[in-house]
Amino acid sequence: MDFSRFGNKFAGDSGITLLMQDLNDGLTNPDAIMLGGGNPAQIPAMNHYFTELLKDMATTGELTASMTNYDGPQGKDRFLDALATLLQQQYGWKISAKNIVLTNGSQSAFFSLFNLLAGEFENGKKKKILLPLSPEYIGYADAGLSPDMFISYQPTISMLEDGFFKYHVDFSKLVIDDSIAAICASRPTNPTGNVLTDKEIEHLAALAKAHQIPLIIDNAYGLPFPDIIFEEVTPFWDNNTILCMSLSKLGLPGVRCGIVIANEAMVTALSNINGIVNLAPGSIGPAVATKMIHQQELLPLSQNVIKPFYHQKVQRAVELLRQAIPDPRFKIHKPEGAIFLWLWFEDLPITTKVLYQRLKQRGVLIVPGEYFFIGLQDEWAHSHECLRMNYVQDDEAMQRGITIIAEEVANAYAE
Ligand code: PLP
Repeated sequence: MDFSRFGNKFAGDSGITLLMQDLNDGLTNPDAIMLGGGNPAQIPAMNHYFTELLKDMATTGELTASMTNYDGPQGKDRFLDALATLLQQQYGWKISAKNIVLTNGSQSAFFSLFNLLAGEFENGKKKKILLPLSPEYIGYADAGLSPDMFISYQPTISMLEDGFFKYHVDFSKLVIDDSIAAICASRPTNPTGNVLTDKEIEHLAALAKAHQIPLIIDNAYGLPFPDIIFEEVTPFWDNNTILCMSLSKLGLPGVRCGIVIANEAMVTALSNINGIVNLAPGSIGPAVATKMIHQQELLPLSQNVIKPFYHQKVQRAVELLRQAIPDPRFKIHKPEGAIFLWLWFEDLPITTKVLYQRLKQRGVLIVPGEYFFIGLQDEWAHSHECLRMNYVQDDEAMQRGITIIAEEVANAYAE
């Protein structure tokens, strides 16, 4: 078939499509150990809560009402109001419903935002999105309509106690000129579990403001919900910041609800894109979340159920990894948030793409690190030495998966 330039790019293979296929295969193959995708954990207390909430909403007619009408292109008004009030109360941010727009998952918000701000301009200029700290979220990599939409730089690495390390933005490397359209970072970061410090965020916000470009913060795992963040940090928003959130990691990836908090001009632009691409964002997620806010359950569940669940899981996963892989060349990025561990096998003789294939043959799915170094300027051996594993599986599956990873890594080091 003869595809357009758009078709050739978007209908072909991409890292994110491979990941989603693996995820789906893993879910349909009962023997696969899924340490790959970004599916959130099945938290029994949350699933029970959602079941009861939906029963209640079915009884009151709210569920049917949410399915039998289109919302406006900006998204469900009641949710926009409820969320604006919650964020004002929680953080004192000066926002109203006019600062919020919904999308069908935050993934689609990034597609709109990146292509709205960067790419080819009428005057022939090209602009890119700056990812200040590489590695970054795989889902950004193929989202640009133009080629080479991203530029990123190596971080500095601090070695911590107990075989942990942490990435930091290397501000001495960042170049921001008129070829940069926006700065974007996930916080907590997928894939590493890093959380940019308040200082780093303040610095990035100041740089963005000084260069009159927006700062996009991807808050899919952050505060105030789902609160999968284990460090004491301050959430950040100002009129120059585009804060993207999601209901997915609360445990509702199937409702496909993304949330963008931005200045009014940006909200209008995204609402207009919604109208063309989707008519309106889906309504069920916002109806559920509105109810959770009105019943004052959204934040307590995030703080008291979701956060402790993942915190306990990550500690257990680290313990299992340490037992299985005592090699001093093995290090783990300090898990500060999100649902992944980022494993670094220093001087690994094979790439993690090869390791991924070997693990897949043994029924273990992880994501090779190479995919996450999007737009990185220089070749960096480190980018072939890391992999991302999620820690959302049950203990038994995680143990089996980690044992197989340990064996394959030991084999690779012995080559
Ligand atoms: N941003 C980050 C950092 C993610 O990890 C994900 C999903 O895993 C997304 C955005 C997209 O999530 P969704 O489209 O489900 O809101």
